[in-house]
Amino acid sequence: MSLAERVKILSQLFLNEELTPDLADRLKRKLEKMKRLGLEALMIWSKDTDNLGRLASICAREGVSPYLWYPMLADTPARFEAKDFQVVAAVESGRSQILEAQKAGGEEFAFLCPNRVGGEERFLELFEETLDLADFAGVFFDRIRFPSPANGLKEILTCVCDDCLERSGGVIESLRGDLQRLLKEPGKAVGVEAMPGILRELFASIEEAIIFRTTSVSALLADYARAARKRNLDIGIDLFPPSLARLVGQDYTELSRHVDWIKPMIYCKTMGPAGLPMELLSLAKILRELNGNISERDSLWVLEQLTGLDLPESFGELASKGLTLDNYDRELEKLESLDRGGAVRIYPGFEAVAFPPVCSVDPAIVGEYVRRTLNRGYRGFTLSWDIRQIPPANLEAVGDFLAGW
Ligand SMILES: [Zn+2]
Repeated sequence: MSLAERVKILSQLFLNEELTPDLADRLKRKLEKMKRLGLEALMIWSKDTDNLGRLASICAREGVSPYLWYPMLADTPARFEAKDFQVVAAVESGRSQILEAQKAGGEEFAFLCPNRVGGEERFLELFEETLDLADFAGVFFDRIRFPSPANGLKEILTCVCDDCLERSGGVIESLRGDLQRLLKEPGKAVGVEAMPGILRELFASIEEAIIFRTTSVSALLADYARAARKRNLDIGIDLFPPSLARLVGQDYTELSRHVDWIKPMIYCKTMGPAGLPMELLSLAKILRELNGNISERDSLWVLEQLTGLDLPESFGELASKGLTLDNYDRELEKLESLDRGGAVRIYPGFEAVAFPPVCSVDPAIVGEYVRRTLNRGYRGFTLSWDIRQIPPANLEAVGDFLAGW
């Protein structure tokens, strides 16, 4: 078997419309093409869960393993009143940066609290019922986290609901007080050189709250993964890039105990949640809000010091061009240095879609992502995040690269 034949390709499908015979036929043809390329598994998310059985059958007929792509804490297939389970913010400040274009596509990114959801048997039943709707090979957990910087300052350090206050033994109560004071009486504007140190100290001072958040997320995953294990399903999870994961309550080491594989989302070109350009731009704007409107470049410099990433000169450039792919390697390096419990497989996720204005990558970028992934020794990757938005030329770039490798 050649090396190229040992590369495992995963991809995803997001469906927010009626599954007409014509659409089913187009999906079938796309899968045929991707199967020839080496596609082994497809994670499926359908807003209308009644489609899952048919979609899984289409996959199986093409020799592709169907996985249930399950958004846990935002945009969960709704057959319950979500309002009572949403995260509660400590402050009223800042606004979401999420593009209307993405919301219009059917993704709201309104988050539920893992501690509220964890106490509710009905959520787990809903998940188990969804698992039983089709003959899945596995499950792929997504959005199992707290809101990200893209949701704005208001939500970035949620949640202060009654469940969180009660379970955290005072830790979240004190975080709420700190946040409210920080915004009511902002300190004097400080020199930009001092900011990385101040922010590191700030994070160290709220370490207990950060741990409460990561523990809340991993406890919820543990319960749901157990339900999937009972069905002998292979378990994967979508995680934020290592530089930002703890900020949204995701700890690679803790979470890897409950899953078979991880797809780190290392999106260098995406202006949507989890995309590095969107999240870093949101953080940079928050820094400017908090510190007397420092310059764009200075706020990006501060983030460079904190993340070790290499950022562009201006917000405009970050939004329009994203990050260079050297940053993809830097995130993978960080991931490789983490303890992930040994056996967990990693299928790095990078963009392959043309979905303006959220993300548009060309064949050269896709080929470069593949080259970097294989050069680092990975033998699998995830073409993200929706096969319907992946242009044929981008797929050809993957095929050409693998053929010549
Ligand atoms: Zn809560």
